Formats: sequence, C-alpha cells, structure tokens
Amino acid sequence: MSAVILYIEDNPDNMTLVRRAIEAIGHTFVGMPNGIEGLKKAEEINPALILLDINLPDIDGYEIARRLRASTNPYLHYVPVIAITANALKGDAEKALEAGCDVYMSKPINIRELWSRVESLLEATQNQSAD
Ligand code: MN
Repeated sequence: MSAVILYIEDNPDNMTLVRRAIEAIGHTFVGMPNGIEGLKKAEEINPALILLDINLPDIDGYEIARRLRASTNPYLHYVPVIAITANALKGDAEKALEAGCDVYMSKPINIRELWSRVESLLEATQNQSAD
C-alpha cells in the first residue's frame, strides 16, 4: 500500500538519497528542510510516517518528536517516527526514544535498513487500525 512519508532534514544530499529510496518502493515523499516547517507540513498532510533528522537549523529532532507526541491531533500523536542522525554518541538512541521516536537509525543511511524499518512500521500501523 502506498503511504505519504514526510522527511524533515536540512542536508540536501540525504534528502535526495532518501527521496529516491522512498519513491523506489512506491510511497509518496514529502521533504521539509527544518523543524518548524516540518511540523507545519505534518499538520497539513497527516503523514503515515515521519523520518526525522536530529540536528536541524531551528528546533532539533528531539523537540519535534516531543511536540508530535504532545499534539492533540491523533494522527500526529501516534504517527510512527524514525530518527535518523549522524550523532554517534552513546545515549543518542535512548534520547530519541525518550522523546517519542519509535526507532533510531544512524547515518550514513543504509537503504536496506531504511526500507525494512519503514515497511515494518507501516505494517504495524495498518494492523492497529484494522483491529
Ligand atoms: Mn541535519
């Protein structure tokens, strides 16, 4: 099933790479370059899944995840979030999960890992809504 996937990322190379990867498996890709615009876009389109860079020029990915989880919009409150970051420091994964992200991936982005994470989260969401 085709889904709308939002990626909030300020690095154009990663944006292009992930756009191609997501479109290659038949999903609709929307990219936004910073946190504030990303959150606005999320409100607008209610994406099925959000890919989230942590280091962004305005608010960081942790803050974005916290705002999504605090949202009164149920789509955004429950939307699956994959954090993708170059931060290799110990504790970053925990921090991302604490902020409300479902999964943490480190850069450089492994496309096969991305595909499998995306598909399994989308599948889990579909199973929940079928109940
Ligand atoms: Mn970044």
